Amino acid sequence: MTLIAPSRLRLDSSALIANWKTMARMSGAAATGAAVKADAYGLGACEVVPKLWEAGCRDFFVAHWSEAAAIAKLVPPGNIAVLNGISSDDMAAAKEIGAIPVLNTAKQISAWKAGGGGRCHLMLDSGINRLGLGPDQIDAQLLEGLEIDILMSHLASADEDVDQNRRQLAMFHQASQNISARRKSLANSAGIALGKDYCFDLTRPGLAVYGGVPRNELSSEIKQVVWPEARILQIRQLDAGIPVGYNATFTTRECSVLATISVGYADGYFRGFSNSGFCRLDLDRFPVVGRVSMDLVTVDISNSSSQLAEGDWLAMEFELNGAAAASGVSQYELLTGLGRRYSRHWI
Ligand SMILES: *Cc1c(COP(=O)(O)O)cnc(C)c1O
Repeated sequence: MTLIAPSRLRLDSSALIANWKTMARMSGAAATGAAVKADAYGLGACEVVPKLWEAGCRDFFVAHWSEAAAIAKLVPPGNIAVLNGISSDDMAAAKEIGAIPVLNTAKQISAWKAGGGGRCHLMLDSGINRLGLGPDQIDAQLLEGLEIDILMSHLASADEDVDQNRRQLAMFHQASQNISARRKSLANSAGIALGKDYCFDLTRPGLAVYGGVPRNELSSEIKQVVWPEARILQIRQLDAGIPVGYNATFTTRECSVLATISVGYADGYFRGFSNSGFCRLDLDRFPVVGRVSMDLVTVDISNSSSQLAEGDWLAMEFELNGAAAASGVSQYELLTGLGRRYSRHWI
C-alpha cells in the first residue's frame, strides 16, 4: 500500500551543511558542534546527524537520554552530550548508551561519581538561571575527581544587544579559571554572531543550522532549509461579501477564487498565520485568508497566473524570520512544531 502524504517538507541538505559551515567559519579557531535536541529541531535527528558528521561536526548536543539513544548508532556515543544531565535512575541506561552527561547540579555530580564517574561535561550558570552550578556553588571538593571535558555555560539574551551578554562572558571567564577542563564552550547561534570573544574552544549552534536567523548579522549568511508544501483539496469561486472559515474572520471584498489546502495547526502551521501567512507557486504569492484550522488552510488564488487545480501543490512561505513575524510564534517553535504528518524529503 502506498499513501502519498498531502503535505510534505522539502529539506535542503546543501543549505543545512552550508549553514553549519557558516557557523564554523564564524567560530574562527573554535571547533563547532551542533544542537540536535528535539529531533534536530523537528527536522529529524537521524537524517541531520550523519550529514553534519560528514561536514565535520564532532560534538552533538541533545536534551534527553532517549534522544542520545536514538542517534548513538550513527556517531560515536562519546561525541553526544546530554544537556539535561543525569539522575541515578538514568545511570544504567546512560552507561549502556555511552553518551556523556552535562552535569548541572551537586546532586548530579554525586550521582555521576557514585556511578563510577568518567568523562563528563559541566554546566556553569553565568546568569540565565535555568540549569547549571552558580559561581558560589563551585568548590574544589565538589569537583574533585571529575574528568571534565567541556566546561560550558549558556547565554540568555545573545539575540539582543544588552549588557547581560558581556556580564555573562565576564562571569564565565572568571568562574572557569578555577576549574580544570579540556575545553570551554559558551556560544549558541546568536552567541557566535556576537564575535570571537564568545567562541572559546567549541561553539554549539542550533537554530541557525536549521535556517533560523536570531541576529541580523546572520540574515545574509543563513539559507532556508525547511520548505513546507501542501496539496490543494478544493477550489471554489465566491462572490463579494462572503465569510470564510471558522468565526468568519475574513470576508471576500470582491469575486474571489479560494483554494483549501491540506495543512493546519496540527502540522505546526499555527493559528497565528490566520490572515497573515502566504503561499507561493513560482512567482505567484497567495495570502492565507480566514482562520487556520487543524487540518486546513484557505488561500486566495484569485490572482494566479496559472490554472490551478485540485491536487496541485502550493509552497508555504516559511523563511523563519518572516514566518515568525507573520505568525507571532518564535522561529524555534516554528521548527520544533513541524508535525509528524508531513512526509520529509531530503534533497
Ligand atoms: C539549545 C541550546 C543550544 C543551541 O541554541 P541555538 O539558539 O538554537 O543556537 C546551545 N546550547 C544549549 C545549552 C542549548 O540548550
